[in-house]
Amino acid sequence: MSEDLLHVSIAELESLLRRIFEANGVSAKNAAILAANCAACERDGAHSHGIFRMQGYVASLRSGWVDGRAVPEIEAAGSSFLRVDARNGFAQPALAAAMPSLLAAVEATGVAVLAMRGSHHFSALWPDLEPLADRGLVSLTTVAGQACVVPPGGRVPVFGTNPFAFATPVAGSPPLVFDFATSTMSNGDTRIAAREGRKVPHGTGIDRDGHPTSDPNAILDGGALLPFGGHKGLAMTLMVELLAAALTGGSFSSDVDYSTHPGAETPRTGQLLIAIDPTRGATRVYADRARDLIDAVRRSGASRLPADRRYAARARAQAEGIPIARAQFEQLAALAG
Ligand code: NDP
Repeated sequence: MSEDLLHVSIAELESLLRRIFEANGVSAKNAAILAANCAACERDGAHSHGIFRMQGYVASLRSGWVDGRAVPEIEAAGSSFLRVDARNGFAQPALAAAMPSLLAAVEATGVAVLAMRGSHHFSALWPDLEPLADRGLVSLTTVAGQACVVPPGGRVPVFGTNPFAFATPVAGSPPLVFDFATSTMSNGDTRIAAREGRKVPHGTGIDRDGHPTSDPNAILDGGALLPFGGHKGLAMTLMVELLAAALTGGSFSSDVDYSTHPGAETPRTGQLLIAIDPTRGATRVYADRARDLIDAVRRSGASRLPADRRYAARARAQAEGIPIARAQFEQLAALAG
């Protein structure tokens, strides 16, 4: 009901989230980074990774499974290749710590590869890339998760929902960013459908006996999700495991096991990020070419491109505040002690 809806300023939300992280064992430096990330998701209407996630962050921290005070180790593995050990901390503070070295490598060589391991990524990927696009860089990133996705025809989950994201500068407009799970549906959306008693589209997943089902409870209760797009999604999610886990030294999704830490929810795996200075390769200004292409796509009739919805939600939140149900805001405040 509208009277139960608050409109919270971005600064106010960020400050509350920072206090929650700090109250649950996160260092002040890491708390500021995580709070900004989570508040940005809520601001942009990326609800599956906004304040909805705070219970999971807190439960994982309280279980001792993740180290909120971790100080990452950054090591040059070549002039353009950074290895980052997040040391059982969250991915975003480790990425922030590596950012100066990453930008210096791109400036020196035109490209940088960042291979992170021992990291917990519990958020959307677009916040990792959008700042790079704002600097004129093209980038992509991918993260392994916790096994809940079977290969088509399979019975045993091997893959996480394994998101993949890409960002590019576009002349005259905000970056184009896409960011999606390589499963038919994210785990969070499957849980929301189950909670709301909704069916999911046929082909979303299988039940515990391996039969296709549109019942989200059957998928969650011993069943599994499928990769999106049949064999094409299978190839994508295989690639994610190889890039984000095998190449980085992180765990495969199927090796994540937090059963000894009741309450834990954040998968500890790995992340690969590649940043490219596109001006090194273009015969014309790259961002102009990106704009020409996007203009052509819009002229062809596309009414929505990736990130359009988020940017619209961001503009609304900046003008009116972030809409949050009062009850949800009060639950959050309780987490801050
Ligand atoms: P969605 O299917 O909601 O969206 C995927 C992308 O497609 C977004 O960039 C979105 O833009 C765009 N998009 C959606 N609908 C349209 C449309 N009709 N036309 C054009 N573009 C469209 O994403 P998922 O549910 O797969 O994933 C949601 C989030 O979950 C992602 O941010 C992902 O990183 C995160 N995630 C994180 C995991 C982790 O381990 N950390 C695991 C799995 C997922 P827009 O944003 O503007 O809507």
